[in-house]
Amino acid sequence: MNQIYNFSAGPSMLPISVLKHIKKELYNWNGYGISILEINHRNILFIKMIEEIEKNFRYLLNIPKNYKVLFCHGGARGQFSAFPLNLFKKNEVVDYIITGYWSKIAAKEGRKYCIPNCINISFYKNSRIYLKNIYQWPLTKESKYIHYCHNETIDGIAIHDIPFFPSDKIVIADYSSSILSAPIDISKFGLIYASAQKNIGSSGLTFVIIRDDLLGFPRKETPSILNYTLLEKSHYFYNTPPIFSLYLSGIMLKWIKSQGGLIKMEKKNKKKAQLLYNKIIESSFYVNHVAFRNRSLMNIPFYLDTKNLEEKFLKMAEKKGLLFLRGHRNSGGIRASLYNAMPIKGVQKLVNFMKEFEFNYK
Ligand code: PMP
Repeated sequence: MNQIYNFSAGPSMLPISVLKHIKKELYNWNGYGISILEINHRNILFIKMIEEIEKNFRYLLNIPKNYKVLFCHGGARGQFSAFPLNLFKKNEVVDYIITGYWSKIAAKEGRKYCIPNCINISFYKNSRIYLKNIYQWPLTKESKYIHYCHNETIDGIAIHDIPFFPSDKIVIADYSSSILSAPIDISKFGLIYASAQKNIGSSGLTFVIIRDDLLGFPRKETPSILNYTLLEKSHYFYNTPPIFSLYLSGIMLKWIKSQGGLIKMEKKNKKKAQLLYNKIIESSFYVNHVAFRNRSLMNIPFYLDTKNLEEKFLKMAEKKGLLFLRGHRNSGGIRASLYNAMPIKGVQKLVNFMKEFEFNYK
């Protein structure tokens, strides 16, 4: 059978062993004789499951004790409203670092709740996109908070160094497309959020990691469902959580542990990205515009000479079982997303196909 590999930017590929596990217990979860989809969220077995999810998530990311983990609804876009409502004052100037599509959208939403100071840190040199080094970011002196996106899923741009600022600055980061792909020094952040549908599981669930001294100051108008303080006090259950998404995350976290944790994940992710970037670099047939130091390890966009050629590439790739390689509607081209579940074999198959396509169409 033609082995299929899913290069989607999210919801994304899941390990086959995880899918088999779900299939096996879909009708009979934990020997209960009913499905996880039918379990009441206040059932003791479900509570045990959610406690284990938090334990494993904390273990993998080595989350310090003074940070709380919240399971939220509304995706990462929900967080674009949630963190301003919980942290900022209406007339507060907040530094929003702009590196691409998602950081721009976050700032646009932030405009409803604060005065965003949008700092575009990208620049072009020799037709390559570079990001300014952290110490060159022109931050506002009076701003207490800085928001940035660790990995721009659409643009394929990442800030690999953790921003280090004077201790009175509080850093908020969108890790939606890179969480659990490598270790993170959580202690450098005030808040990290990530929707689950790329490296953790399926959509409908967003992980928030927040330093506990930042709880307790929601604005009066904050909708209860976005109120971190209320969510934390309700201990997982302010309302019915996304049961299946949580369940899947639990299995994925165990899978990541079984693979050797985040140090091993990072090693493997670097190897996969290197394999694909090497293919792009060695030829003038495929082009990626991002400077070496800011290349994403998760989402790798590249372009061919003409739209016709790109369409041909996508069509033929699909026939070979290389799926969902089409770039985002805003940026076009090709994009390969190489999240944790993508095996090296999948990337090798893509690279082999790229060689073959180049040979036939150059
Ligand atoms: N931020 C980033 C970096 C993303 O990749 C995405 C989704 N692709 C979002 C935010 C929005 O996430 P959601 O669809 O869960 O709201």
